Amino acid sequence: MGISRRTFFQWLGASAALSMLPGTSEAAAAGEELATMLDLSRCVGCGSCVEACREANQAKYPRPTQPFPKMYPQGRVQVADWSERRQVDDRLTPYNWLFIQTATGTYNDQPFEIHIPRRCLHCTNPPCANLCPWGAAFKQANGIVRINDQICLGGAKCKAVCPWHIPERQTGVGLYLDILPAYAGNGVMYKCDRCWNRIAEGALPACIEACPYDVQTIGPRQAIVEKAHQLAESMHGFLYGEHENGGTNTIYVSPVPFDVLNAAIATGPGRPHLQSVPNPFHEEERLTRAILAAPLAGIAAGALQILRATKEDSHEDK
Ligand code: SF4
Ligand code: SF4
Ligand code: SF4
Repeated sequence: MGISRRTFFQWLGASAALSMLPGTSEAAAAGEELATMLDLSRCVGCGSCVEACREANQAKYPRPTQPFPKMYPQGRVQVADWSERRQVDDRLTPYNWLFIQTATGTYNDQPFEIHIPRRCLHCTNPPCANLCPWGAAFKQANGIVRINDQICLGGAKCKAVCPWHIPERQTGVGLYLDILPAYAGNGVMYKCDRCWNRIAEGALPACIEACPYDVQTIGPRQAIVEKAHQLAESMHGFLYGEHENGGTNTIYVSPVPFDVLNAAIATGPGRPHLQSVPNPFHEEERLTRAILAAPLAGIAAGALQILRATKEDSHEDK
């Protein structure tokens, strides 16, 4: 099932209508996660999406207070100041939530040049939100993963646990300045919030709206996954994001395998990789099941022992 922009707006319109009644938009959105599909065969790397993202989200960008408080013990947390480098657009920063990676090379003896818009993938089971000690990172019912800049202390746990190390810190802004500026945290973490406010108003995310080549499609996850599979099949292509990290709400479709793309892109701070990422919670779920099963197994074993002893006693009594 494909989803045109019109269908998306009809779907979104229905949600928006429901949202007029208190609490109904959350109920309607629960279980109906949004996902985006990016058709990399269409992206020309023009950067219109990057510009649109910066323009649409400017009001959310950090406005740090200078000078920054001195941290104790010194060197505990590094200062991260991007406020004088807001124009940087070739990597993720607190002022640049989307950038274009370019991979060039040959595949099947054919030269390729693939442009890859990179941002937070909005994981379906996001470790950044699950493991944030302060509850600052969270996932909305519609699948959008956000960081609350009013609560975040900039401790960067979200960045450490994110397989792509997406969130970026800006020092000199946020709650830590009002608590213990020398000792607690060191700013606020920033990343793509999938234009949650635009979606709530029934508009498309800015990057999707601005793209002249319709690279991105947004819609309910299951429908997007089906569309991505159809597209991949039609181009004999490959998917990234459907299963990575247990599944994300960003599905890339490429005519070139992602391990080939990963080898061809520059990776490092602010420039995420394209390696396959196993589900980190798979092992945890297995362990949880084992731990939960352990007392039951113990009870069962104990009950069996009691039963055996009772039987033996009754035999001895005979
Ligand atoms: S996604 Fe669209 S707007 Fe962004 S670089 Fe590619 S073609 Fe340009
Ligand atoms: S990609 Fe990283 S920052 Fe984005 S939701 Fe997943 S874990 Fe969180
Ligand atoms: S969804 Fe919004 S915040 Fe995220 S990259 Fe696109 S424009 Fe930027």
